[in-house]
Amino acid sequence: MAITKQQLREFAGKSGLDLFGVANIERFSGAPPRMHPASILPEARSVIVVGKRIMRGGWRGIEEGTYWPNYTYFDYHGLLNSFFIQAPLYDLACLIEDHGWEAVPYYSGVPEAQPDCPPVREGAVAPNVHLAIRIAGVAAGIGEIGWSKVFLTKKFGPRQRLHAIITDMPIEPDPLIEPGTICDRCMHCVSGCPGAIPHQKNAKTIKIQIEDKTYEWADVDMGKCTLMYHGGDPRVSPFIHKDFPGWCFDVTKQNLSEEAAYKLAWTLSLGHWRSTPEFPSGRIIEGHSYLAQWGMGEKEGGSFGVEGSRGCMRSCFNHLEKRGRIEQTFKGGDFIKRPRWILPCEVPKEPAGKP
Ligand code: SF4
Repeated sequence: MAITKQQLREFAGKSGLDLFGVANIERFSGAPPRMHPASILPEARSVIVVGKRIMRGGWRGIEEGTYWPNYTYFDYHGLLNSFFIQAPLYDLACLIEDHGWEAVPYYSGVPEAQPDCPPVREGAVAPNVHLAIRIAGVAAGIGEIGWSKVFLTKKFGPRQRLHAIITDMPIEPDPLIEPGTICDRCMHCVSGCPGAIPHQKNAKTIKIQIEDKTYEWADVDMGKCTLMYHGGDPRVSPFIHKDFPGWCFDVTKQNLSEEAAYKLAWTLSLGHWRSTPEFPSGRIIEGHSYLAQWGMGEKEGGSFGVEGSRGCMRSCFNHLEKRGRIEQTFKGGDFIKRPRWILPCEVPKEPAGKP
């Protein structure tokens, strides 16, 4: 018996997925070949995009400046991205194959880590193809991309992770969301970003067209963003202050590429050093290193989040909840309840005081 889109949607919901939408393959007509779902499955007719929420409480400890581990472990990269979404995604793909259609479960992580390889045969697309999952989410009618370049949904604002299934099953696409339905250009993502790191690179925006709709967002300065997010910014890391007394590093004055920023921030955060009486841990920045280990395991290549998306996530959903622009709200009121903390980029030579 044929399976319907409604049955797929219900299965996804019962399996623990919060978001489900379908794009037909025609909506990817503007995608470059190395980002096109049909470069993975040439017979693709549909792309199902699914998502699961990032819990608001996942950021509470970072917002208060008191507790870092669970955001990385559950929400940013760890169990949410590698397990909570993947198990139901895989089961959904199996269900599609049980009904005679091929289903490619697509893992949307870490595009920047993909090696450059030559094509395996003449005329083929070089591996690895990388589907832009946020654009796929827009094409599947789940949400839109906010000014911050973060994917926003009506249900959770910026709080979700997305993955996809590419299939040759023909499925009726969901309607596209009208641009501006969620993002109101409030710019809290910019003002909430530590030290107002310019969100917009070279005053440029990115625009895409899907059917009759144009979606536009800021071209984010990913070098600064990566340095800040992954452990290169003393303003957002008490762990840098502990391990580099006397250092001064102003992220806003750096002009690195995203790759160079990763190289610096990950080396600092994950690297080891000899154990000495001054720094007995044997790690360059002990606090960051443990975050990565608690995330997915540093040896397994798991990622970690130090800065915790102060502007593009926390300021954004705080604003969207207040304005009633998203559905999930909370009885306790605003997420941001107290004055926000930020440390100096000049790390004092002597610690201000022991906890
Ligand atoms: S904070 Fe969110 S809603 Fe406001 S402009 Fe940025 S992305 Fe849009």
